Amino acid sequence: MMKSVQNNESVLNNTSVRNNKSVLNNTSVQDKESAQDNETDQKDGAVVIFSGGQDSTTCLFLAEKVYGKENIIPVSFFYGQRHAKELEAAEKICKEFGFHGISLPLDFLNTISVSSLTEKTGPIDTEIPEGENYPNTFVPGRNLFFLTIAGVIAKNNGYHHVITGVSEVDFSGYPDCRENFIRSAEETITFAMDYDIKIHTPLMHKTKAQIWKTAEELGIIDLVHHETVTCYNGILGEGCGDCLACALRRKGWEEYKDGKY
Ligand code: ZN
Repeated sequence: MMKSVQNNESVLNNTSVRNNKSVLNNTSVQDKESAQDNETDQKDGAVVIFSGGQDSTTCLFLAEKVYGKENIIPVSFFYGQRHAKELEAAEKICKEFGFHGISLPLDFLNTISVSSLTEKTGPIDTEIPEGENYPNTFVPGRNLFFLTIAGVIAKNNGYHHVITGVSEVDFSGYPDCRENFIRSAEETITFAMDYDIKIHTPLMHKTKAQIWKTAEELGIIDLVHHETVTCYNGILGEGCGDCLACALRRKGWEEYKDGKY
């Protein structure tokens, strides 16, 4: 199984490990920790947005360290991606490691918007086109839907935490991967349900190379290297090698192997 990680502080974040609730959090809109401490001392847990890729798999195992396997719910979404490989990878990882994950259809996303990720044919941008802010793989609204649904699942299970593997370093320019969006969504979801939801983004300020290093520290480097899908063409492990996701992943891997993290 997995190696234990000696020192949570070095693994998880720059933030200090005061308690479970602060470990994964970079920042929070509201400082309601003291109120929350009383409320959640007994049992708290987290919903992890889990796509079966490098970043979300790393987040899943970070979450396990903090909350314990029995207190986390990995949730995967199908939204009409070209390939089902990433969800197959997510399902396989859940089964292999005993996580009780759920997967939900969000295929209406494909009906209401256009993205090369959800169109059956057509080219997938291999870089951000000149004059554009992001490649045609962007799925508008995706992360807001994901986070809202994860927040609802968290509430219904008495949990206050949602974890997502977005990063604004080495990313594709998607606006819904940025810190300002996450903080805004956290506040909105909290207001929407009058229930504290904290959105944790442990990878927000990590490079891909640093995320590989985190996987190493969690003892899951081989799992992430060989059994996750990041590739936009749905190819397991190292992927197609051509798409933007593969390019970012490979660059990070090479830097990690060279000790640059
Ligand atoms: Zn690829």
